[in-house]
This record gives sequence, C-alpha cells and structure tokens, in this order.
Amino acid sequence: MSDLTHLTIAQALSGLKNKDFTSVELTEAHINAMQDARDLNAFIVETPEKAMEQAKASDARRASGDAGLLEGIPMAIKDLFCTEGVQTTASSKILEGFIPQYESTVTTNMFRDGAVMLGKVGLDEFAMGSSNTTSYFGNIINPWKANDGKDLVPGGSSGGSAAAVAARIAMGATGTDTGGSIRQPAAFCGLAGIKPTYGRCSRWGIIAFASSLDQAGPIARTSEDCAIMLESMAGFDAKDSTSADKPVPKFTESLTGDMKGLRVGIPKEYRMDGTPDEIVKIWDQGIAWAKDAGAEIVDVSLPHTKYALPTYYIIAPAEASSNLSRYDGVRYGLRVDEGGNLNDMYAKTRAEGFGDEVKRRIMIGAYVLSAGYYDAYYIKAQKVRRLILNDFIKAYEQCDVLLTPTAPSSAFAIGENEDDPIKMYLNDVFTVPASLAGVPGMSIPAGLDAKGLPLGLQILGRPWDEATVLKVGHAIEQKAGFNAIPQSLLNKKAA
Ligand code: GLN
Repeated sequence: MSDLTHLTIAQALSGLKNKDFTSVELTEAHINAMQDARDLNAFIVETPEKAMEQAKASDARRASGDAGLLEGIPMAIKDLFCTEGVQTTASSKILEGFIPQYESTVTTNMFRDGAVMLGKVGLDEFAMGSSNTTSYFGNIINPWKANDGKDLVPGGSSGGSAAAVAARIAMGATGTDTGGSIRQPAAFCGLAGIKPTYGRCSRWGIIAFASSLDQAGPIARTSEDCAIMLESMAGFDAKDSTSADKPVPKFTESLTGDMKGLRVGIPKEYRMDGTPDEIVKIWDQGIAWAKDAGAEIVDVSLPHTKYALPTYYIIAPAEASSNLSRYDGVRYGLRVDEGGNLNDMYAKTRAEGFGDEVKRRIMIGAYVLSAGYYDAYYIKAQKVRRLILNDFIKAYEQCDVLLTPTAPSSAFAIGENEDDPIKMYLNDVFTVPASLAGVPGMSIPAGLDAKGLPLGLQILGRPWDEATVLKVGHAIEQKAGFNAIPQSLLNKKAA
C-alpha cells in the first residue's frame, strides 16, 4: 500500500473514483508514512483519529455518488490555520495549548470538498522566516539531503507543509505566503506552490502576520494538484473584508500544456549581481522551455525592484507589531503571572512567549510606526509599495506573465544564515515584490543543482489571473519533466 503515497492528487482522485482503493486505505498509507518520518519534525500535532473518521465519511459520501473536489485526499494543514478543537499555535510558545473554537474559512472549504486532515504542520514562528529554524517546536528537516548528507532547511515559513508533501506524508498542504512563504519552501523541496492574488482566499481564521500581505495557497507536487486545491480553498467570504467577491475559475481547465499566444516577460532587474550561476542557468533553461512551449519572450523592466526588500521589511513588521499586540496573556495561550501589576504580567508573558525573531520584528514595527518615524519609514514605504505595484501594471501591458527564479539559492544547511538576519531576509529578494503588489505568483519544480537539490522557477501573473499562472506553470513543468524524489525516500522504497 505504501505506493499510494507516491500518487499525485489528480492520480489519487481518479484511483478513488475507479474504486482502485478507498480513502481509508489512502489515508492509512499516509498515516504510516507520517509515523515513519517523525525524524523530520514536520508535524506539531498528528490527528490520525480525525483523519480516519473523515476518510470513512468520505468513502460513504463517494459511495452515495456525492464526491467533492478533494474527496478523500489526505492533507497537512499549516499550524497558522485555526482548526476547531485542534491545537493551533503558529509555532509559538505564546499559543501553546490554544484550541480554537472555530475553523478557518479555507480549511472549512477544503473539508466541505472532502479533504482529510492528517495533522498540523510547523512553520517559522508566526510565519516570520525562511528556514523553519525559529519554531518553538524545533527545526523542521528537509527530506532532501545535499551530497554531503547535511541536514537542510525546508525553507519557510511553510516549511512543515513542504517537508510533509516532499516526504510523501501528505498529498498536499495548505501554506500561507506573506513575502514568499509558499513559493520558497516549494522551491527548496522540489514542489509546486501558488500564492494567489491578495483577496482570492479568505484570511478569516488564519493567524495574522501582516494583514495587507498574508494570503493562503496550496503546496503540492504539481501545478495540476495546486489548481485542484486552489479551486477548493478560494472564494468570497463576507467574514474577511479584503476577500474579493469574484467567481473562482475552474483552474484545471486552463492546463493545456502549451503556451501559444502568451508573452513571457523577463524582468531585467532580477538579473542581480552575485546570483549563483546555477540559478541563472535554470532561469535561462526556463526561458528556453517557455519558448519551446510556444511562448513569445519579451524583456521588461520593474525599475523599483531594489526597493522591494527594504519596503517589505518595514511594512510587514509594522503590521506584525500591531497584530501581535493581542497576545498579552489575557485572552490566549500563555500567561506568566508572578505577582506584580498588569503591566508586569504583559511584559513577562511576551518576553517568555515570543522568540527572538518575533521580538525583533515587533521592535522594528513599533519603531517605524512611532510618532517621530512614521512619515519617514512607514508612509514612505507605503508610497514605494505603490510604485512597485505600478511597475507590475506597466510590465503587464507588454506581457501576460513574468518568469524569474524563485530563490537565490537551493536549500541551505540548518544553522546557515542564522547569525545575520539581513542574510536571511535576502532569501526573499525574488518573492517579496509580487507580495507587495498583491499579484499571484507560483513556484514550480524545475531541476536539480550540482548538490542534487531542487531548484524552482517563479511565474508571476496579472491580478486575478491565477489561471494563466497555473497554465504556464504546468506547461513549463511538462518541459522540465522534474520527477526526482528525495534520496531518503528512495532508500526507504528500496528497503
Ligand atoms: N521570509 C519572509 C519573512 O520572513 C516571508 C515570510 C512569509 O511569507 N510568511 O517575512
């Protein structure tokens, strides 16, 4: 049965439909895989009983001819989505033991469509990071290993999601992306992942990091699987005032495999000094694949690209400092009360409950929002954000999508980049511009570097045009023919 874990979602859905196996069998195979791969530390909470219950109910629904989009598919849920009755922590000590009384809209949509939840997967604390080394629940390990056998980061912040899917524990996982947190871990783990247009998925019930940037999206093995998942996750929700009242297209219908008539823009500012040769090489290869699939290649300019990282690292911490003020020991999770007055309780709770990176961001955020610096930093950053959006709007007059690398490196070793936060932030150089502009972006698995590690390509699209992003992702993916799997799984398969 363990081969069931190597199917894509699309393959599993057709296997279930043809009665080749049941959701109970599929789910059992994944629960076994989850228990076998505990060394990766992908899960904070495993929910096998819930999964089996949902799988049984799914088989019954299917038998009565009532199958949803994700009917019977075992999934992992990022621990930033509130799940009713199941601990939700954002990988933070301050929320340890917090059990939501309600379900996020995105997970509600997925359960409505028959998804099975295997458990809650870890992330960088409050989704702040690119490496999953800031979680209170410990580092998450990438199932891919470099030639030298070192343990690598799975990327972040949706690192548990990516590690679980890459290790064939879950067929797909929810992620969230504020500045790259779906796309970069997908790239580091040889997977596909899409951040839809801001407003496409409801943020209701997702623990907020930076509310004007946060978006939910899927991480899965292929663009097709992402298309299936996104169709289920997306949709208008009156409970999120930034949710867009727009119909959700049938994304799978756009996956034709060809790119005839499409113009692919190559932004010259993404050719940055110091980008490793292998990243440049895979990008050039991606351009060749796009041409091969029938696309026209055009050179475009996004002149404000160099301001994107500093702008993001003002706006995101500013919003975070405000969002995180609610964790005060009164309403949620941890309370450290050692006598003293109310302010002492707040201070001790927050000092003990938050990790260093979260504290750093709260301090930066409070600083850029403070009376004396608000205009110089926060307002300025908002203005630059608008210029960055204008760059994209202008570029999309010349092209339908943009093609770039996803990240400036493949997965790095645990501990690397740790000494210097700026070095860590540089990871987001290719992903944050689209986050600031609110446009959709995805990463697809494109190839392996000399160390045998996956490299991703990023496709950015027009607002609300995820269909074309997925179409292009799918077409390039067909050309790339990426079918490598982590070495550790090959060893297990052979054993
Ligand atoms: N790595 C980025 C950060 O640290 C992005 C995180 C995210 O998208 N949640 O803020």
